[in-house]
Parts: sequence; structure tokens; C-alpha cells
Amino acid sequence: MPAPTRGIIANFALRMFLGRVGQSYDRMRGLAPWGSRKSLKAVRDDFAAGCPYCEEPLVPGRVSEDHLVPINKDAVGLHAWGNVVLACSDCNTQKSSNDWRTYVRSISTSEEAFARRVSNIEAFQNKYGYAPGVGLRIVARALYDEVGADVVRLVDLKVSAAETLISQLGRLTSEGVSRGVETVQPRSPEKATAHPLASVKAPSNMKQTRDDSRGQTYLAFLEALLDQFKAERPGVVTATTGGSGNGRSWFGFMAGYLHSSFNWSFASGNRFRVELYLDDRTLPAGPSPSTSSVKAAFAALAEQRTRIGAGIGLDLAWERLDNKRASRIATYRDGNVFDQPQIADELGSWAVTAMIKFVDVLGPELRVLNAITAGSTG
Ligand SMILES: [Zn+2]
Repeated sequence: MPAPTRGIIANFALRMFLGRVGQSYDRMRGLAPWGSRKSLKAVRDDFAAGCPYCEEPLVPGRVSEDHLVPINKDAVGLHAWGNVVLACSDCNTQKSSNDWRTYVRSISTSEEAFARRVSNIEAFQNKYGYAPGVGLRIVARALYDEVGADVVRLVDLKVSAAETLISQLGRLTSEGVSRGVETVQPRSPEKATAHPLASVKAPSNMKQTRDDSRGQTYLAFLEALLDQFKAERPGVVTATTGGSGNGRSWFGFMAGYLHSSFNWSFASGNRFRVELYLDDRTLPAGPSPSTSSVKAAFAALAEQRTRIGAGIGLDLAWERLDNKRASRIATYRDGNVFDQPQIADELGSWAVTAMIKFVDVLGPELRVLNAITAGSTG
């Protein structure tokens, strides 16, 4: 961090400090904290509506608040009764951060004028008992020196934390198969099987309905997809089998972020879908605010849609699903194995390849989201 930035931070902290100390100092002297309209009127009257430095009458629109002792690390003036005056704009500009006595001497054309002005100003300071003492200067100086260094240290710390996260993101995104698999592996087999999407529905337990034939076809197809996927990415899915269910037409496994899952499904419109279904079952069903875990995660991923899309290499649908708790990132392909059994092999091969891409690319993204979420709540 460049030195000027550190100086700006330190000055800001010092002004804040002196402002607060000024209020305490006012209260300590039995005065209302400086700053009301009454304050300005009282101080104007203290100098008979003239500029304390040049004694010219104050002209509306050309009047400024000025600190006799400047508010900076060297002079350590306070924004408090006895240090704030109303000066003409010219004097305010010319005096700048100079010592007020030095300035008054520079504009006084006679010794008498200089003595009178100094006497008036000193009487003003005495009236309010403005004499903060040298201890304040030591404390303020220490604050100025330390706060800059402390803030720089803190920012450096946060930058290195952010850099670690960013480098992790880059590494995971470009990394091979094995790390991506770790990312989406459910924490424990128990948790994975506890998820309804991963629950086993053996054909023998299925209810016999008129959709049974369709359901059996879907189930066989989805189980074949799962077997192929498990051969390609061992360790991602711990369920030994999966089922679409009777009359249902999807199968999914945990994605490693909240209750999100990677799913295959037969979608409406005679389409087959591979998706990351972002979900958080601790939230009520129905629309959730943009700040919810799911919608925030979706927004974070959507910000990276160009990079993610390039990584997956398929046309992606970014479905925020405003009426639902969940959001979806999906890719679609036309076809239905029940009505078109001849496309099953081709569709299956596409579905497995697409799922591998989803897991490899989105798995690491979810891991980063997890890290960020843990960081902000912990
Ligand atoms: Zn003046």
C-alpha cells in the first residue's frame, strides 16, 4: 500500500479521534457539544460579527468555520468550544494550517493591531477554558502513527487471504479430475443416502401404475448413466444405485454445497436435462430473496457465466427460478428414451459427458463458495 494512502487513512482516523475527544472535552467543561446553530451564533457574537484575524465585518456567503489550532497530527486542535471561530474566507484560505499568531502577525500593519487581535483571541480561548494540554498531543500522535500501520497490516492480511482464495480457484478450475471429484464428494455416505434424490428405490418396491413401463425405462436408463459416470469419476457418488422412481424421471447426487445436487432428468417438452440444482432445504419453499444462500450462490456463479460456459463447453441455461427457493444451471438436449429408444445410446453418452463437465467445472466453484461462506459467517 503506497505511503500517501496510509497517510490518508491515518488523517481520517485522527480527525475522527479529535472530533470525538472534542465532544468529550466540551462535556467535561459543562458545555453542549459543539456544532449546533447556536454554537456558530455565539462565536460570531464573541468577535462582534467580525473576523478574529483581520477584524473585517463578516459578510454572508464569505464566512468559514476555522480552527485556531488546526486539526492535524502536529497541532492537534479539537473541534470544540474555544477552538472553532468564524473567519472571513480570505483569512481562512491564507491561514491554512499555520499557527494563528504567526498568521495574525503577517496581516497586522501595526503592533497595536497585532496585540489587540492576539488579546481578543486569547480572551475567547479563556472564556471557554480551551487548554487541552500536552497529553492529548502524545495520544493523538501515537494514534496517527499506529492506526496507519495497523490498517495497512490488516489490509495486507486480507489481501493475502483473498490471494489464497483466488489462487485456489485458479488451481481447482485448471486442475484435473481427481480434485474436482473430491469437491463434490458428499461428506459422508450417510449424508448422501439421507438425501432424497440419492435414495434407493428398487424396482421391486415401486408402485404399479399405468406409468410403470415408462418409469422402468427411465430407471434403467438413469441407472446406466450412473454406472458409466461412476466408472469415469469414481468416488463422486457413494450411492450404489439410484432410482428415478415411478412416474418420476430424474436422478441426482449431492453437489457438496448446501443441499444442491447434480441431476439428470427427463424434462418437459421432450427434453433431457443435465443440471446443477442449487438448493437449501433450511429455507421455506417458494420465492426466496436475492440475499438467500441459494440466490446469492446463483448470482455469484452467474457472474462467472462466461468462464463457466467456456469450461463446460455446452450451451447453458441460467435459470434463476424466481418463483422457487432453488435455482438451476442446466443444459438440454431433445429426446426421450421411452418414445425414442433408438436414441438411448447417443443420449446416454451425451448425458454422461455433460455430467462429467458439470462436476469438473462447477464442483470447484461450489468449493470456493463454501470457503467464502464459511469465512463470512465464522
Ligand atoms: Zn479575516
